[in-house]
Amino acid sequence: MTVELIFEQTRTGRKGYSLPSTDVPAYRLPNAYGRQMVTPLPEVSEPQVMRHFVNLSVLNHHVDKNFYPLGSCTMKYNPKINEETSRLHGYTRIHPLQPLHTIQGALSLMYELGEYLKAIVNLDAITLQPAAGAQGEFTAISMFKAHFNTKNEARKYILVPDSAHGTNPASVNFSGFQPLTLPSSDNGLVNVEKLIELMTPEVAGLMLTNPNTLGLFEKNVKRITRIVHDKGGLVYLDGANLNALLGITKAGDMGFDAVHFNLHKTFSTPHGGGGPGSGPVAVRQNLQPYLPVPAIVSDGRSYQLNFDVPNSIGKIQSFYGNFLVMVRAYTYLRIVGKDGLKDISRSSILNANYIIQSLKDDYLLPYTDYCMHEGVLSGRKLKDAGLRTLDIAKRLLDYGLHAPTIYFPLIVSEALMIEPTDSESKETLDHFIAVMKTILKESSENPDLLKNAPHNTPVRRLDEVKAIKDLKIRWKT
Ligand SMILES: *Cc1c(COP(=O)(O)O)cnc(C)c1O
Repeated sequence: MTVELIFEQTRTGRKGYSLPSTDVPAYRLPNAYGRQMVTPLPEVSEPQVMRHFVNLSVLNHHVDKNFYPLGSCTMKYNPKINEETSRLHGYTRIHPLQPLHTIQGALSLMYELGEYLKAIVNLDAITLQPAAGAQGEFTAISMFKAHFNTKNEARKYILVPDSAHGTNPASVNFSGFQPLTLPSSDNGLVNVEKLIELMTPEVAGLMLTNPNTLGLFEKNVKRITRIVHDKGGLVYLDGANLNALLGITKAGDMGFDAVHFNLHKTFSTPHGGGGPGSGPVAVRQNLQPYLPVPAIVSDGRSYQLNFDVPNSIGKIQSFYGNFLVMVRAYTYLRIVGKDGLKDISRSSILNANYIIQSLKDDYLLPYTDYCMHEGVLSGRKLKDAGLRTLDIAKRLLDYGLHAPTIYFPLIVSEALMIEPTDSESKETLDHFIAVMKTILKESSENPDLLKNAPHNTPVRRLDEVKAIKDLKIRWKT
């Protein structure tokens, strides 16, 4: 096959796609950059190719293969229809620099998604630009900074609970503030007395995760947001745990000034392995002047981009953000509807409590309150057998299950953070519980079984430090 033929095929394969202007010359790669010889690709039949890829696809663990209770990550089922809508040619073959009148459909989808998200958290304005939760945090805390700059207030610190995700203090630093640790009480919730003490005029606000990373709902949340507001501060909700709150309570009602969504978690985009993500940020009216540009606006007839936002923190992500993740979230929201949202949170809360209550007498439950959509056990009991939580995680792989999140949150030693999500059946939960009980039994009867696990995965236990320090990203050297 010659180079010329390959390009011919590409061109004809794009039937139906019309460029905005017809005077664009057909694209031709200069010969010097073309392939000079026939590539020695293996000649194999279709069934062989299918088998190759099907077998490859199950070497690693993923949600389509089995249970994936990775706490804080909301590894729920990703409906296949999301993939269909996000692959519609009308969405995949547009260019971010196309004239606005040719992308009205995409703009209307983003605008409507923004409206849905605002309603879900009861806040006033939104940006869809951030490409992940962490970037959403950075966006919002930068807006806090702009707010205090406008008021000529040189506040230095943002409070971050000791149970928070590591991205919180990182975002604080990136936005030009310094993080100040807010300790938790013995019950795992914010220590309110300590908050009152730390909330000085030097403090710009608080980043709170609710439910927190222990899966516990901050019962005093309204009091907490009031304490910060009374001192002129702002309060941010890390919305990564939104799967627990849908249709039940709203960030705006709890007193938060800003919140990020992790569309890839709560609204179902496959995100194992680090992407793609989308972290829209919704804010209260007082922060609207600082939102990134451009804002998508509508006059009821068409959609336009508004760059005329004088106090905006600027652009924080190229073009519109991760548009196809937005298409998936939009599809998901349209399908589940308002009532469905509530069912999602109720099921995820029920599923998490079912697991935690079934395992709390076997493993240790450091914070005994009922949890929300996830719960945290400790593998501390296994220390007597010379075993760690890491060994449980590796042994789970032998049973074809992914491990929970381990060693996080940092305030629980040997933590096992379990998030079953809403989309798992009782049979799956029972199976996981049974496997966890079996592993506990193995730990006393035959600790080596855990110590040397996994036994039946394509790659056995890695030296994780060496794997990072001596990174090899090629199959063969
Ligand atoms: C996942 C997560 C984040 C960060 O979100 P990304 O989309 O991964 O950047 C922040 N906080 C909590 C509690 C999280 O679980």
